[in-house]
Amino acid sequence: MSWSLRLGKILGIEFRIHVTFLLLLFFIYASAYSQKGSAYAVRAVLFISAVFACVLIHELGHSLIARRFGKEAKSITLLPIGGVATMEEMPEKPAQEIAMSAIGPLINLAIAGILYLLVGQWSGVSAPNLYPESAQAFFAGLIGVNVMLAVFNLLPAFPMDGGRVLRGILALKMDYAKATSAAVSIGQALSMLFILYGIFFNWWLAVIGLFLHMGAGSEKQQVMLRSVLHRVPATEAMATDFRALRPDESLSRALEHVYHGCQEDFPVVTDKGIQGILTRTGVLSAIHQKGTTLPVSEVMDRNFISVDPHIPLDQIYQQLLSGHKTAAAVVDRGRLKGMLCLEGISRYFMIQAALKGWGAKSS
Ligand SMILES: [Zn+2]
Repeated sequence: MSWSLRLGKILGIEFRIHVTFLLLLFFIYASAYSQKGSAYAVRAVLFISAVFACVLIHELGHSLIARRFGKEAKSITLLPIGGVATMEEMPEKPAQEIAMSAIGPLINLAIAGILYLLVGQWSGVSAPNLYPESAQAFFAGLIGVNVMLAVFNLLPAFPMDGGRVLRGILALKMDYAKATSAAVSIGQALSMLFILYGIFFNWWLAVIGLFLHMGAGSEKQQVMLRSVLHRVPATEAMATDFRALRPDESLSRALEHVYHGCQEDFPVVTDKGIQGILTRTGVLSAIHQKGTTLPVSEVMDRNFISVDPHIPLDQIYQQLLSGHKTAAAVVDRGRLKGMLCLEGISRYFMIQAALKGWGAKSS
């Protein structure tokens, strides 16, 4: 995630903090300080830090369970709106998804329970107060926060954990795409209730509803994409009618091909096979800086993605997105067979979705 600082590793998982989170801490400190001075401000920052420590443990729970199922947990990032655990891929077996999703809210309930046993009888439970006046108010508020986090995360709507638990339960009975579709509909109905109720009674609920509504839509899109693409090999959607360049050709030669065709990414080949990919963004920034006389070999991306013909499209799509690339070369035993670009894969998906009657929106 851009704009985030790496703080280190916890149990082998990278831990990052988004700069906006630090801004939030600073803002809370400054506003508390201006109201009642520094001791008050320090308490406010401690309270928020304690809340986010609970969020961090929640996310660690997701990551560790995912790791148990063999899915690599990459990082956890703290944002002002909560934590995000990034993993290589999500478990698709329903029981695994249920376990992995439910653990987060369960951890918050456990924290609330433990804190209650330790200090609850003495301090009680209360609605969280950002500026706790006393140690009692601090712990009572922290218990309250954890209960709220558990309830909020268990809402049966994407992207909340509850949405995934619901999908997992439905997927025990039906196929994954159908279960997603049903879970999305339930989540969206719930989010509409939030929005309607919120407009009249509480704006925050309306904002949460809107957030849930958008989350549901994007989850559906992703799952549909995966369910269509994960059995389709690269050869099915690759371009076979393309132009290739030689490393010693000039950029102006490449530009001619851009002008007279629709191709944007060019494989650069010699008799030894493909040496790189010349991308549109590469060409544009090179001619902006150095003109059009440079040879292609100086501008091409040598660190390009090369895939076997039988690799499924969803994997290639993910690889392109996470590597910030626009095109991959399909290579069979050292020989260039075709080119695959992001637009090509999206186009393939839209056509297949239309054939299935999903009426998928382009994204
Ligand atoms: Zn969670």
